[in-house]
Amino acid sequence: MLHDLRAIISRIAHSGARARGMPIALRENMMNRRECNVMLASGLFAVTALPSSRAAAQSASIETIRGRWRSFAPADFTAPSANDTVTRSEEQWRDRLDPLAFRVLRHEDTERAGTSRLNDEQRPGIYVCAGCGLPVFSSEMKFDSGTGWPSFFTSIPEAFETKLDFRIILPRTEYHCVRCEGHHGHIFDDGPAPTHERWCNNGAALKFIPRES
Ligand SMILES: [Zn+2]
Repeated sequence: MLHDLRAIISRIAHSGARARGMPIALRENMMNRRECNVMLASGLFAVTALPSSRAAAQSASIETIRGRWRSFAPADFTAPSANDTVTRSEEQWRDRLDPLAFRVLRHEDTERAGTSRLNDEQRPGIYVCAGCGLPVFSSEMKFDSGTGWPSFFTSIPEAFETKLDFRIILPRTEYHCVRCEGHHGHIFDDGPAPTHERWCNNGAALKFIPRES
């Protein structure tokens, strides 16, 4: 069953790549939405969701996990305040961000599944917004969802705001940085304990800061 679903998704991705004459960003976007729809319909996300922070998740309350994110930051790390909002023009954001991060953060694009090197990042540390540097996740909140996007079962308190998104017709909960309003991803309800949430984040919207350099 799982093998069949993966084969279907692989064929969809491959057929999307053959859609020539279309801008690359549009092709990738279509591919991701089609993959996402198939995976949502199949329940594949739930099947492959495997927590990698098992020990911590099982032994600590979610309030504890959210509250101790600073213990995963380097000793000399100074966090910007979420209240110190960042506002820039379209051109200023384009100048500061690499092209993919610009499309994701400022135009709610989605990176291709499996392309972020943060998928495999397992070191202790914190993840900050690539737009403004606000800490948004600790490594303790990360798990391997098998989806091809960095995934977390919760976030740092007050780092994000949410809104309903109907871009694929089915309503999804979109979340964005409170400091710079940069788009990061969507929240699904098929994640692991203790929250059963899956914060599906674009790697391009994040920067990882390891606790030990
Ligand atoms: Zn931000």
